[in-house]
Amino acid sequence: MSGTASEKELIGTGLKKRTEEALTNDFLRKAVAFTTDKLKTAKLQVTDDFGHWEDWRERGRQIRKHVVEHLDYYLTQFTDNVSKAGGHVYFCQTGDEAVKTFMEIAEKRRAKLVAKGKSMVSEEIHLNRHLEERGIEAIETDLGEYILQLAKETPSHLIIPAIHKNKQQIADIFSEEAGETFAPETKVLAKYAKQRLRNYFLEADIGLTGCNFGVAESGAITLVSNEGNGRMVTTLPKCHVVVMGMERLVPTYDDLEVVLNLLARSATGQKLTTYTSMITGPRREGELDGPEELHLIVLDNGRSAQLGDPVFQEVLHCIRCAACLNVCPVYRHVGGHTYGSVYSGPIGAVLTPLLQQDMKEAGQLAYASSLCGACHEACPVKIPLHDMLVQLRARKVRLGLTPLAERAAFKTFQTMFGNVTLYKMATKSAYYMMKPFVSKGVIKKAPGPAAGWTQSRHFPMKPKLSFRDRWDTLQQELKQRGGRSEDGAARGQAVPGRGKADGSGKGGGRHE
Ligand code: SF4
Repeated sequence: MSGTASEKELIGTGLKKRTEEALTNDFLRKAVAFTTDKLKTAKLQVTDDFGHWEDWRERGRQIRKHVVEHLDYYLTQFTDNVSKAGGHVYFCQTGDEAVKTFMEIAEKRRAKLVAKGKSMVSEEIHLNRHLEERGIEAIETDLGEYILQLAKETPSHLIIPAIHKNKQQIADIFSEEAGETFAPETKVLAKYAKQRLRNYFLEADIGLTGCNFGVAESGAITLVSNEGNGRMVTTLPKCHVVVMGMERLVPTYDDLEVVLNLLARSATGQKLTTYTSMITGPRREGELDGPEELHLIVLDNGRSAQLGDPVFQEVLHCIRCAACLNVCPVYRHVGGHTYGSVYSGPIGAVLTPLLQQDMKEAGQLAYASSLCGACHEACPVKIPLHDMLVQLRARKVRLGLTPLAERAAFKTFQTMFGNVTLYKMATKSAYYMMKPFVSKGVIKKAPGPAAGWTQSRHFPMKPKLSFRDRWDTLQQELKQRGGRSEDGAARGQAVPGRGKADGSGKGGGRHE
């Protein structure tokens, strides 16, 4: 990513502070939980109705795996076809290169106004900021993105960028912009946004979009949207620029059918997104609409570094549906801004450190997970995100990037668990060390580094006798009584769950 040093610093260093702020923001938590619940429920319903969901997931996984394993082939095929259809293709290794390429196109067209469709890749390269610095106005035309642009915020969800805002907040934003008061009603607010945006579509020098999927066999750029702004942006301005991640390809239209089914159902619980557009080259002679020029910027920005990696290559299978965000207990509590990166939720926690190749700051995101595996379950292309998060943590440890106190603690554990005497001494002394902090059998406020644990739950008191102590005591008692069984039960006594061990076989128990 073309994030500056300060942005990288913010990701890890500010994570704790942002988390604390989000956790005390009841409105945010309720808003995010409400919408993600709706999306989750809709997805379950629609996948249930669809049937054979697991087969579709497996097919989707195979398609994405095949493309990523043969990315050089499909990228060549796709871009050759885009060129044959009259498009101009640029390969950019970094975000800065992509920005530079866009600026050169904008300069040639003497562009003053850019109308943008939804594009996470343009967020990734911070294109709006660069355009602003050059005095080029960029207008977000996706409703959620438009709201956030007016509020000077970044998206907090891949699909629903303004997930953390309610109607009243949106009405306030629009009222301030328009200088008149709007009622917090969907129809009123949508009408205002439509009126405002219509002129931008007509006046824009360049329309900019992302690309959901490029179809290699034809060079078609596929865009899905629920608002129709994508069609305006790609047909009304005379120049259309597409910024796409290099891995967003499918080989054929048959494969496209599979991934579109997976995407719409997993993202919003729809059978199909309202508008699915396929753009193959600029306007041809005799056609009534479409741009005069089509430019395709293919962005690497850390993606190719994952190719061939036995653990992380699969992250390139992602189709950006956000299903993993909707089920993640961490995301649902803190929302997207807490992550401090363009990509949030489980996929963001994996993707950001890998794309930025920055384990120190961005690598902190690997800890923003409970490792429950819900993301993997929800992922329509079965990316094992929870395993990757563990592997990222391991990488951080191997690079010596964990705090000194943490390293010292684990070193101590290692020594203790590797020596029986030390282990016994430590487990015995733990009881006495905990005792001063115990009230009614639990520790409600732990001291030092353990304080974080008891902020939201109690820590149970360790029993005075360890299991080993109790086991030894039991063995001695049995010996004194004159006999023992392998199960630790005296001859003639019942073994729980096994019936009576008296040789009678009653209760179905195994005989000693
Ligand atoms: S990782 Fe899977 S669930 Fe998450 S956005 Fe990507 S495709 Fe969707």
